[in-house]
Amino acid sequence: MDKRKDHELLREAGKMVDRCDRCGTCLPVCPLFGVKGVEATSARGKNTIARALAGGGIEPTREVLDVVNFCLLCRACVDTCPAKVPTDEAMVDVRQHLTDLAGGADVKYRLIGGVLKRPGVVKAAAAALSILRRSGLNGLFPYGMAPEEYTRAHFLTAFAGPAALGQKAPPSAVTVTGRTKVAYFRGCGMEMMFPEAAAQTRDILKTTTSLLVKQNVCCGLPHLAHGLREEFLSLARQNIRLFEEAEVVVSDCASCGATLKHLSSFFADDPAWRDRAAAFSGKVMDLTEYLEKVGYLPRQKADVVFTYHDPCHLVRGQGITRPPRELLKAAGSFVEMKEADVCCGGAGSFHVDYPDAAAQILEKKRRNIEKTGAAVVVTGCPGCLIQLAKAAKASDGKFKAMHISQVI
Ligand code: SF4
Ligand code: SF4
Repeated sequence: MDKRKDHELLREAGKMVDRCDRCGTCLPVCPLFGVKGVEATSARGKNTIARALAGGGIEPTREVLDVVNFCLLCRACVDTCPAKVPTDEAMVDVRQHLTDLAGGADVKYRLIGGVLKRPGVVKAAAAALSILRRSGLNGLFPYGMAPEEYTRAHFLTAFAGPAALGQKAPPSAVTVTGRTKVAYFRGCGMEMMFPEAAAQTRDILKTTTSLLVKQNVCCGLPHLAHGLREEFLSLARQNIRLFEEAEVVVSDCASCGATLKHLSSFFADDPAWRDRAAAFSGKVMDLTEYLEKVGYLPRQKADVVFTYHDPCHLVRGQGITRPPRELLKAAGSFVEMKEADVCCGGAGSFHVDYPDAAAQILEKKRRNIEKTGAAVVVTGCPGCLIQLAKAAKASDGKFKAMHISQVI
């Protein structure tokens, strides 16, 4: 391990959090401060600890690692912060630093990372989860990791209505034609947890273009988030190389999309990969962003009321809020939810590592969904969908949770 690089990361994190003047504007928007009410759970508290660590004022103990791990990386604080302190990025850098000092990532994260970097193993895991679902044994699986997947078949009557009369896509700087080489980025979460939704995405994309089929590897976000940065960079290089032929790369997973769009920043100082990474990041689009550009209209207008949950990685990671809502308005009736852009508590493996805090955050989300009276809560990230499926179950059938590709 390159220790020089380690300390560079800590110094970088120190520089980022140095801009925090402890004003406290971020406290009310942090979901974790909302459920715990403890300073160390807020961005301000985390920044204070990171600054002390970078300045040598405190030792890199297990307690410090616990503080930096207890973060949803939801960026709600960054959006609100007057100084735009990137607390989430600083936490990822400090995690990497502490992980390297400890001699490597936790065995749990190494195992998960090992699975996710092998497409063959991801496929095998997807098949195993599918068997669990079909046999009805998925309920025994902890943390909702093999959720029942609602499909359009659950709304056969509602989805049998007349074709929607949608509106034209707004003008776009990017030209996408029927001849544009468009590829689908198959995210691990979509493939393992929501294969029906992933199949719907592919079907929708095929109506707009002749789709390039690529066997990509994981986007690397789980590796980046848990101290496996070298593996993240290796996965990134594989994906950059693989998609060089494509002109557009579409993702139906907010987390993959946000990660892929930001890859260029990780290669900015690498002359061998800088331009290739920038070209790759520049052609990644979220599914709804792409569909808006090509003027896609939902297949049918259903007699269903939808509400929408903004994935953190879509609203704050990519600044996308309008396209999914416009698609839902064209696909049925739409009602806005209170605090639609507040994290659901999923945050990758956060809901597994901290189930109590995640459940408290989700409970607020469930109440907000129920208040809308919507029959379906829709989102664009498998991580959120796992959480929302749990909320749907707890609602006693008041609503269902679906991926956007299943309803448009
Ligand atoms: S990224 Fe989210 S969870 Fe982490 S400190 Fe900021 S608001 Fe809180
Ligand atoms: S992170 Fe930003 S909003 Fe929060 S205390 Fe620091 S400067 Fe204020």
